[in-house]
Amino acid sequence: MIDCSKCPGQGICCGFFPFSEKFFEKYKDKMQVKPIKIFKQHGFIAAVTEDLRCVFQNPKTWRCAIYEDRPDICRLYGTKEGIQKKGLGIACPFFKPNGNEWSRAMKAKIYHIMEKGLRRIEKKASESN
Ligand code: SF4
Ligand code: SF4
Repeated sequence: MIDCSKCPGQGICCGFFPFSEKFFEKYKDKMQVKPIKIFKQHGFIAAVTEDLRCVFQNPKTWRCAIYEDRPDICRLYGTKEGIQKKGLGIACPFFKPNGNEWSRAMKAKIYHIMEKGLRRIEKKASESN
């Protein structure tokens, strides 16, 4: 199991992703950073932050302000089950689901997938300006 208290990336996995409108409404008062832009699409809300981190992540401690009720995708992140269901896009870029470190090649591959995802989101955000 991954020990996130030893994260070498300051919780880098908590990147920006869309929440359902209902979920966002329920927790919007718990946002930890002010979004630079909020846009809606197909029942989902995306709150974009300057550094594309999640709005619910505390920028000093890197902890999640809604951890007890975090979305399913966050629960699946980095787990074997999650990777089997959703692919390497939700793999921790440092550790395997069993807590051991990935090889350098795998770290690079996962980073590349993460970056591609962020570029897609940035593009969407800029298109909705
Ligand atoms: S899952 Fe990986 S990237 Fe995310 S906080 Fe844990 S160690 Fe860091
Ligand atoms: S909801 Fe919490 S666990 Fe999920 S990405 Fe945001 S800060 Fe991370």
